[in-house]
Amino acid sequence: MTRERRDELTVVVAAYNEAEALPALHPRIAAVFDTLQAEGVDGRVLYVDDGSRDRTWDTLRRIAAADPRVALLRLSRNFGKEAALTAGLDLVDEGAALVLDADGQDPPELIPAFVAKWREGFDDVHGTRTAREGEGWLKKATAHGFYRIIGRLSRTPIPQDTGDFRLLSPRALAALKQLRERQRFMKGLFGWVGFAQAAIPYERDARIAGRSKFNFWSLWNFALEGITSFSTAPLRLATYLGLATASLALVYAAWVVLKALLWGDPVAGWPSMMAVILLLGGVQLIALGLIGEYLGRLYMESKQRPLYLVDTWLPAPGVSSAATIPAGGETHAYGPPAARSESA
Ligand code: UDP
Ligand code: MG
Repeated sequence: MTRERRDELTVVVAAYNEAEALPALHPRIAAVFDTLQAEGVDGRVLYVDDGSRDRTWDTLRRIAAADPRVALLRLSRNFGKEAALTAGLDLVDEGAALVLDADGQDPPELIPAFVAKWREGFDDVHGTRTAREGEGWLKKATAHGFYRIIGRLSRTPIPQDTGDFRLLSPRALAALKQLRERQRFMKGLFGWVGFAQAAIPYERDARIAGRSKFNFWSLWNFALEGITSFSTAPLRLATYLGLATASLALVYAAWVVLKALLWGDPVAGWPSMMAVILLLGGVQLIALGLIGEYLGRLYMESKQRPLYLVDTWLPAPGVSSAATIPAGGETHAYGPPAARSESA
């Protein structure tokens, strides 16, 4: 590694109601930046307040006031983690970007390892969990199952047990920014980009404070999102299900006719009729529901709404050349007029 080489790294942190965790997290990031500085990497951090309803924004303002390496972005409401990350990554136009959870589950102390891999020439360096602390067995088991299912269904390579803890090189970041789909399954989008990938195994810590924003229902929806955004296999499944029932029905019909020919027909058959009707009805509803899932996504996509709206943007040197967010831009939507002029 040459001493003269200087690189830029922006850590993007999406935070939703993380007022308790952030004051503990930021000093850890700042300490890492200090060590990186000596290795020729200028680190800064961009916190995205995803419409928090607690004191997250005030906490962030305080952190930013004390540290010039901190940029802040506040969305107009809670858009969800994927949109918040997109908003943050959109604003990084210099150097590499690294995504980190606000709750300390992704240890910032690992950032130098990510940077080292990047400097070796990898474009997508992601943390792969070897252990998850402080999470129930059910969450671990379902997460495990989900990664295997989506790995089978999707032709986009999605690394297993890999969350959003990830460093993107400038060109991987530029590629990611081109994916403007509204239904955002970030793990899949990262995978779609490709380029040289490296995995860093790590143990996922328990949250510093607060609680997970994702319950089982939202995780279920998240899984549906991932599968339907990155695979049309379920649609094909409906076709196969239909084919299978149709062939079974054909065999059964032949049998019914044969039976009537051989032994006459004493008009029994109410139970079998009900069974067939209910089964077919069920299969049809499932198929319709599946089609509906995709149609719904098509509908949402066709509206071409911006992915998020910005409330406030407080830049820091080196994060982004956008002092203000371009009005009505395809990628950014609009923001308030001025940088750091907001009364402090
Ligand atoms: N998050 C967000 N918007 C949301 C929900 C979560 O920005 O609507 C952030 C949250 O603040 C945290 C990260 O996404 O930094 C991961 O959330 P969480 O820890 O709740 O998820 P888990 O680790 O349990 O999967
Ligand atoms: Mg977490």
